[in-house]
Amino acid sequence: MTLNFPCAIKSMATGYPMTEQKLICYTLDLEHDYAGLAPSEEYEAFGHAEIRERLPEIVRSYGLKLTVFATGKVLAEQKETVEFLQGLGAEIELHGHDHIIYQPDLVRELQKGTEAYRNCFGRDPLGYRSPGGVISPLLLKSLAAEGIRYDSSIIPSYRWGMYKNLKSPLHPFRDPEASILELPISVVPRVRVPIATSYIRLFGLATFKSLCALFGTPSPAIYLFHLVDLVPTQMRKKLSPFWRGIYAKGRKKGLQVFAGSVKHFHDRGFQPAYMSRLYSLYSQVPESPPENKGPAKQGS
Ligand SMILES: [Zn+2]
Repeated sequence: MTLNFPCAIKSMATGYPMTEQKLICYTLDLEHDYAGLAPSEEYEAFGHAEIRERLPEIVRSYGLKLTVFATGKVLAEQKETVEFLQGLGAEIELHGHDHIIYQPDLVRELQKGTEAYRNCFGRDPLGYRSPGGVISPLLLKSLAAEGIRYDSSIIPSYRWGMYKNLKSPLHPFRDPEASILELPISVVPRVRVPIATSYIRLFGLATFKSLCALFGTPSPAIYLFHLVDLVPTQMRKKLSPFWRGIYAKGRKKGLQVFAGSVKHFHDRGFQPAYMSRLYSLYSQVPESPPENKGPAKQGS
């Protein structure tokens, strides 16, 4: 296989193209607080004073390139926050419309989201992330019809009742059926712990660093966070006891954990990059992933 694009070489181990540089994309899923888990729609985290003060500091200190996956509803109704993030240099992509996570076949939800995106920016979104990381083969096939060029929904890990992706590739690949480029959210290899503020908070930053030291970190790395991972909000008290317990861990240290994990990648030579840059680098990935490992069926 010959790769024609610059800045890419073939990984001898996997056959996937790997960038010469170590790249990391910080991706923020922008939706109402605790979407899918909360009993009602609140946006307290959007205007939270600590986020407004600390997030810009972290972005500027480390030169982060944020890619925000926003719901259509947020694009239509929370313009001030979208503009705040654009002011930090963020590029904006799509994250459904109402953030419905238990109906992954909902093509209308995708279409509504795309309509809201077009109304906001006057063009099609380049990338898509499905709410909850749950996406069906039907929805994957529907993305191209909406003008979307890459998907970043798949978490190559396991979450009870949500997804079973333990055989999914850790690196970018092209889905052979939907023929769309997948830029999967990164996990620590072998143990498949998602590289996400929520998981790093849950396990602790020191444990996360130890896992990376033991098992390595993929490059490119696609890091996931939400605003409610950074600061606690009142809605947390209305979550089910299970989720209240999960979000209680390190709830006052979210921004500290986020900054600590950003420093971890910075110190290891990872360069921040937008997802659109990864799309450009990987857009020529061949259709069939090596070893015929397509994405696992979602939501089963
Ligand atoms: Zn989401």
